[in-house]
Amino acid sequence: ECIGIDAGGTLIKVVYKERDEHLYQTFLSNEVEKLVKWINEWHPNAKLKITGGKQENISKLLHNPYELIDEFEATTIGIKEVLKRADLYLPEKYLLVNVGTGTSIHSVLGKNSERLGGSGIGGGTLMGLSYLLTRQKQFEEIMLLAEKGKRTGIDLKVRDIYEGDRSPINGDLTASNFGFLERMTGEELQEDILACLVGMISEAVLMIAMPFARAIESSTIVFIGSTFHNNALFKKQLQRFEYLFELKLHFPFNGQYSGAHGALLY
Ligand code: ADP
Repeated sequence: ECIGIDAGGTLIKVVYKERDEHLYQTFLSNEVEKLVKWINEWHPNAKLKITGGKQENISKLLHNPYELIDEFEATTIGIKEVLKRADLYLPEKYLLVNVGTGTSIHSVLGKNSERLGGSGIGGGTLMGLSYLLTRQKQFEEIMLLAEKGKRTGIDLKVRDIYEGDRSPINGDLTASNFGFLERMTGEELQEDILACLVGMISEAVLMIAMPFARAIESSTIVFIGSTFHNNALFKKQLQRFEYLFELKLHFPFNGQYSGAHGALLY
């Protein structure tokens, strides 16, 4: 019996097989004792195939036999499995953007991949700024609030600057995230602030990723990472740009388990 574990900065993703079926589990990285208890109780003899930044940390807490696997190799192998299981057939070449605690950008060509870059702007930024701006700390709660929020009057749009005059670019584009100081009252609703925050992060991630897509001459971008898990708002914000920039964006089901899938298959 084998268990694939991807121990990230925020979440530990687990994939294993039982009676030919893949099963999935997630634990918080700061509640690693729950993972230890789960393994000791249910899988005391399983071989652990561990990847992710906290892999060594976790291997030391368990008595199981284990193997440590390179994070980027695991993701490259795992994304193939995730796409297959999601019935998603993509071109040979595409850009893979992993929005985890931070963001990591890779080109994928067939079996090979190369890390092209990354950004500190990611899911962790959403969590940290949500806390600083609204004192909310729960991911689910933050996203529920953000879904209800409006961005008008906090974000400055191109059309807010041009005020009815013809603008050289689409008036609906954000001219300045959180830039409508003139309209701000200090009484902004949490849900509106959080909607703007999700907007800013999705726009920043897309703008960071887009030149990489151009550089590898691909218009296909695949987003993975738990930041998009159960997150219709992030997807919606990003999909607005598909038409404008002639991109094809994908958010494969269970994408956040790519690393754990790859570790298991390794
Ligand atoms: P990592 O591998 O760095 O842990 P993930 O791909 O697991 O990264 O993504 C972590 C991000 O996912 C968090 O920063 C947060 O934005 C989001 N997230 C989704 N669900 C949760 C949750 N239950 N608790 C905390 N963060 C969550």
